Amino acid sequence: MSEQAATKQENQTIRHDWGKTEVQALFEMPFNDLMFKAQTIHRQHFNANEVQVSTLLSIKTGACPEDCKYCSQSARYKTDIDKERLMAVNNVLEAAQKAKDQGSTRFCMGAGWRNPKARDMPAVVDMVKGVKALGLETCMTLGMLSIEQADELQTAGLDYYNHNLDTSPEHYNQIITTRTYQDRLDTLSNVRSAGMKVCSGGIVGLGENAQDRVSLLVQLANLSPQPESVPINMLVKIEGTPLADVADLDNFEFIRCIAVARILMPESHVRLSAGRAEMNEQMQSLCFLAGANSIFYGCKLLTAENPETNQDVLLFKKLGINTETIASDDEAEQMLKMKTAIVDQQNSDVFYNAVN
Ligand code: SF4
Repeated sequence: MSEQAATKQENQTIRHDWGKTEVQALFEMPFNDLMFKAQTIHRQHFNANEVQVSTLLSIKTGACPEDCKYCSQSARYKTDIDKERLMAVNNVLEAAQKAKDQGSTRFCMGAGWRNPKARDMPAVVDMVKGVKALGLETCMTLGMLSIEQADELQTAGLDYYNHNLDTSPEHYNQIITTRTYQDRLDTLSNVRSAGMKVCSGGIVGLGENAQDRVSLLVQLANLSPQPESVPINMLVKIEGTPLADVADLDNFEFIRCIAVARILMPESHVRLSAGRAEMNEQMQSLCFLAGANSIFYGCKLLTAENPETNQDVLLFKKLGINTETIASDDEAEQMLKMKTAIVDQQNSDVFYNAVN
């Protein structure tokens, strides 16, 4: 068997038994070799020039009882966000329609909750039904879910549930003390049992060490099935949070995280998420080359600015990405003129670091 055929065969098998030593070895590969390996695997599973586009809307902002040290929405930190109650269903649907008009295929709705309360569920269910009726894929992130709530959301038509593992199990209690790693895994299990797809990733740059980044990716890859979407977030430092002054993570280490995530989870959409607004075009391009094939677009992420929609359109044009959806100069021009209506939807600067 040729080396290429053997590599292909090896990579077509989704593994759930990754060990830390072999994942560490991937991180330590020469950069060019790692990029080549990641891109080779990427091309076996995806069109290399397609990037899935999602829009994220905060449907309820701030006053969260959890203590995630990176998050502007925690009620425990003095941050510069405008707290918002749960949005009205019709306002959410209006935002979803605008997102669809701007080219999004998935609409993600996030609420700063520890978990949804019973009184919140009817509105949330109506949001899912309404967004689904617009022909968009639906995703929500509402914190921890019971099995009953997961079933209710699935019945309403929720396609994806986002619930990030945040960091490694070893580093977890340095970042969050109001819940446990097992709580996270339990919610992911409830989401899977209900039959929904899973969006789960983490944040790097939280002051964790290299072993923690290995451990986070091992946790994600060894979920069975692996998450369909894997957001990899670069910490956006928010003034007022305990991590506001944490040391920067080297950009190459971030790109290596994307590449290793692609290798470990070859069929998952790896999403370049929070932190993208602070990345220049070349950095984003290296992330796409490493296997990132999903972004949030034209929207306020949960605590940080996202590059304006028109900048994304221009970058995609330069890279030849999604040329079928950005087919002509006319269309691109039209999109350039569009204001990021979703951004205007909420007048806070903030929304994200990692969705719940
Ligand atoms: S990340 Fe989510 S759970 Fe944690 S404080 Fe922020 S909104 Fe609350």
